[in-house]
This record gives sequence, C-alpha cells and structure tokens, in this order.
Amino acid sequence: MNGATQKPKPLNDTFSCLPPSIHEVMTRLSLKHNSVNLGQGFPDDEGPDSMKRVAGEALLQYPNQYAPSTGVQELQDAVADFAQEAHPEVPVDPRRDVLITLGGSEALSSAMLGLLNPGDEVIIFDPAFDLYNGMCQRAGGVPRVVPLVPETWQIQRDALEAAFSSNTKLLLLNSPHNPTGKVLSRADLEYIARLCIKYNVYVLSDEVYEHLVFPGSEHVSIRSLPGMADRTLRIGSAGKTFSLTAWKIGWITGPSHLVAAVVKAHQYTVFCVPSNLQRAVAFGLQKERHFFRTLKQSLQGNRDYLMQRLESIGFRVLPGQGTYFLVVAIDPLRCSAEETDVEFCQRLTIEAKVTLLPITAFYNSAGAPSNLVRLCFCKSMKKLTTACDQMEAYFEGLSHRENAL
Ligand code: PMP
Repeated sequence: MNGATQKPKPLNDTFSCLPPSIHEVMTRLSLKHNSVNLGQGFPDDEGPDSMKRVAGEALLQYPNQYAPSTGVQELQDAVADFAQEAHPEVPVDPRRDVLITLGGSEALSSAMLGLLNPGDEVIIFDPAFDLYNGMCQRAGGVPRVVPLVPETWQIQRDALEAAFSSNTKLLLLNSPHNPTGKVLSRADLEYIARLCIKYNVYVLSDEVYEHLVFPGSEHVSIRSLPGMADRTLRIGSAGKTFSLTAWKIGWITGPSHLVAAVVKAHQYTVFCVPSNLQRAVAFGLQKERHFFRTLKQSLQGNRDYLMQRLESIGFRVLPGQGTYFLVVAIDPLRCSAEETDVEFCQRLTIEAKVTLLPITAFYNSAGAPSNLVRLCFCKSMKKLTTACDQMEAYFEGLSHRENAL
C-alpha cells in the first residue's frame, strides 16, 4: 500500500480528547496581544540567588551524568528532615520514603501510574488543577468527580461519601487549593480521613502550596492525621516553595510500599532528575527557609492591594485563604449575561491587555459556574498596578461609551 493513501492510525484517545492546557492557550494569547499576564501562576520575584549559585557551581563541581533514580541523597535527607520537623509523629526514612521527581507534576503522574489499575475509581474534587483528570484517565483510573460548592468551595459531605464505593482506590486532595485558594479545615480533613479509612482508600495529597497560607488559616497535612500515614502520599514542589518554577524539582513522601510503586513509574518514564538543581534545593531547604517563611507576607500585601483595586473596578472578590490565586466574579462587568468566562478572558486580553484565566477550564463535570475567573497575585507590584490601571481605564471607557449612546 502506498504511504500517501494510508489513513493515519488514531492517537491516544485520552490526550486527543483533552483540550490544550489553558495556561498555554492564554499565555500565547497574552504574548500575541502584549497583555499583562495575571493568568499563569509563576512568580516575578524569584527564589534566592544563593540557590542559583549552588546550582551553577554544582554543574562544574560534580559529574554531569545520571543522578540516582530516587534522588541525590542530600535532597532526600533534606526533604525527610523537613517533613519530620513539621510532623514529628510521622517518621520519614530518607531512602525508602522519599522520591525526588520532576516537579509536583511528575509526582502526581508517576503516583497515578504507579498506583492505579484500569477501572480503579478515583475521587477528584471539582474544580481541580487541570493535570488531575487527564492523568487519572491515562493511568486507567475512572474519575468520580465531587463538586466543591461555589463560592465558598465547601465540601458537601453527603455527596463526597456517595462517591466512595468498594472500587474506590484513590482520592486526590489539594489543599491549599488551585484554583480557588481554599485551605481545607482540620475538621474537613478529619472527615475525609475517616472516609478513606472506612473504604480503604489511598490519598494523593498535593501540598505544593503548603507554605502559602495566610493568617487565620492553618495548613494541616492529611498524612499527619491518625490512621493516614500508611495510606497517604504527600507531594511538595521546590518551584512553589522557592519561587523557582522552571527548575521542576518536586518530591513525594509516604510509606515505603507506596513510594516503591511510584518509583517504578518514575524509573520507566523520566528515570531521574537534574542533579545540580537537586543539590541547590537541598541547600535551600537547609539554609534558605527564611525565603518561603516570609514569602507569604509580601504576597499578602499584593493580595490585599489587588482585592481593593478589583473591587473598586467592579469585580466581586471571593475569599481565599492560601496560594497565590484569587477568584473573582465577573457578573457586573460582562458585556451580556451570555458572555462566558472564556469569552470574557479573551476580550480582556485583546481589549484591556490584561490576561486572566477562566475557571471553567479547571472543571471536569457539568455545572461549572461561568461567571468566575482566576487571577494570580505573585507578580511585581508594578505589574499588578499596570494591570489594574488598564482594567479600570477599559471598563470606565466602556461605561462612558454606553452612557453616550
Ligand atoms: N499541583 C498544583 C495544585 C499546582 O498548581 C501545580 C503547578 N501549577 C503543580 C501541582 C505542579 O507543580 P510543579 O510546577 O512543581 O510541577
């Protein structure tokens, strides 16, 4: 048969059916229209220079060859020490209970690949970080989506329990939560823990924003709750902790029998992670804790400024307790009741030169509210001010035009 007449074979169904990542789509649109990008969550103020120096020196000082697959020992030690300081009741063996991954993202995907068999049910809250649903399906999991109730993002306990069954293998948890900024209370986590114990379910606890919790709320790791240490894998990210998102260094800690399953998936996909960056993150966890302990104070200033400006522009700001994201309602500023969050974000990028992200892109079930958008406040004050000035001028211009008609 002639190659020119051959019909292409179908590609992987899961990924073919998924839309391109909203971060990529909106960042491209932002670049095209030269807008201020408050969509994608990367900080303007980068992590400590000392860590960059250690990373650079390590390239010259050490062999530039494959690192040990589970991570360089310095970083495994630093991650274990750090986890144990926060939760002394849960011992962490640096060699058996820690895997260094290519960011929080690979920790999530290797964990799902390592734990799931085809047909296993996985509980995912909605909205969620967009990797969860696609990767769960690619790993053979069947998502059981449980909506968080807008606009307080409460967990509906009866809906959650109804999603559990004897087929449930895993629950994906994310607190502090992207995209809403919600920090789950100890009482909610205890409730989730009770259900996971009752139905014998594992938990993949995505805690990449654990250091970004504002006063009035506390971060509780579900792994530290009674009965949970042996069934929970906990994920961290140096990208978030040290505002170094390009480095893609993450980690997973948990009981050795679960970590071993994740190590297999890691070995058969990425195998290992750049060693100089691992050494620099180990240095950071030992010597630069000040960075992330004070980061939330400066972020809080940005958040308060942004909240006040957004409200005076006409947005309604929803409460958030952590992360560097704010969710706002766009109802009063839509050009018609039918305008969707996606259309609103496109219009704002093109006409006001400010990019935000539509919340519906983080939803995996029907019933997503179409009046909410996410903004990121880990940007320079200059950028936040420019974005607010541009939105203010844009919406004022529109209302003058309407009044003149
Ligand atoms: N989990 C959540 C909730 C996130 O928001 C992100 C990044 N946006 C990740 C995991 C991935 O982390 P990393 O950049 O370290 O891969």
